[in-house]
Amino acid sequence: MKLAPIPMLDLSRQYTIVGEEIQAALAEIGRAGRFVLGKEVQAFETAAAAMLGTTHAIGCSSGTEALWLALDAAGVRPGDKVITSPFSFFATASAILRCGAQPVMADIDPVTFNLSPLTVTAILERNSDIKAVLPVHLYGQCADFDALNRLKIKHNLLLVEDAAQAFGAKWNGIPAGALGDSAAFSFYPTKNLSAWGDAGLVTTSDDTIADRANLLHVHGMRERYFHEIVGWNARMDTMQAAVLLIKLRHIEQWNLDRARIAARYHWLFADSGLTLGTSADAADLVLPQTDPRATHVWHQYVIRSSRRNDLRAHLTASGIGTEIYYPLSLHQQQALASLDYVPGDFPHSECAAREVLAIPIFPELREDEQDRVVEAIVAFHA
Ligand SMILES: *Cc1c(COP(=O)(O)O)cnc(C)c1O
Repeated sequence: MKLAPIPMLDLSRQYTIVGEEIQAALAEIGRAGRFVLGKEVQAFETAAAAMLGTTHAIGCSSGTEALWLALDAAGVRPGDKVITSPFSFFATASAILRCGAQPVMADIDPVTFNLSPLTVTAILERNSDIKAVLPVHLYGQCADFDALNRLKIKHNLLLVEDAAQAFGAKWNGIPAGALGDSAAFSFYPTKNLSAWGDAGLVTTSDDTIADRANLLHVHGMRERYFHEIVGWNARMDTMQAAVLLIKLRHIEQWNLDRARIAARYHWLFADSGLTLGTSADAADLVLPQTDPRATHVWHQYVIRSSRRNDLRAHLTASGIGTEIYYPLSLHQQQALASLDYVPGDFPHSECAAREVLAIPIFPELREDEQDRVVEAIVAFHA
């Protein structure tokens, strides 16, 4: 008998939990005919801000727009330099360019895959003109905000969080979204909190930043058809807000379910007879590590292997979905050639791009499926 495939993500299982309630909410919006910035958007903003511990949350049209809004509203201006990670989704760098600013890459910590405070410090010591740092909470684990906050004070920096993968994550108990001057979330359908389409959120507890983000995302209008600044259309639509409001009631449990699955993966791999290590060369496999100060939401469970591509092919042949986040560092992207980086500039990021493999993790993943994922990975190494 051929076993059913195990997908990276199966949103149809979440649909059985929240689908009917969402359908009813969408039908109501259709009847009322309020499709953009309806009362659901405000209700979602209020509920999200309460959960994230910020005084403001501004719904917008995508995580990419949220990054641009969070950077510009915090005060990043054309010509400014912004330090960020080369090991992220492209929007992290393109949002900096969208502000007219210049991305300055700093290598990652090879254990957490997040921006390394050491490399950021080295850049700050050589450059006195850095305006901001844009750390990414990759895979659902917060970047080291103890170190970043020390650097912020010493060098008078803005800190803007790319929290696209980290709704509900915490650092020393403080939620992602409340750690920096401003933060950006994405609700793209694969994210741990997801809309039925594109949506994003900016959070801040600074009234001036919130006011500017609010203005920017509605064409700079405070009063209809009177434009105070040049903004853009980056509004959240009512239907996405309604979807998110309903899912928001489940997100804490879903994040706990992800953590339970991650802990079980750890336990199954530890029990499997594979050599596990902290460096991919010496071991069959490297498991993801959590900093003790971080509350990880396991947006992804990412293993490392020096034979990653063969391992992935083996899992694909076994019907097991995997993904590579990300196969090419940002400093090596053709679109960013003008930044003048060369291969070898960020060795930890480049090595991670060769070795990482995300395996299935989502709240409804079953234990028998998890067992099969681990068995297939063990069989590859036999
Ligand atoms: C998804 C993602 C984004 C972009 O979000 P969109 O909603 O797809 O525009 C930005 N940064 C990171 C790290 C992401 O994972």
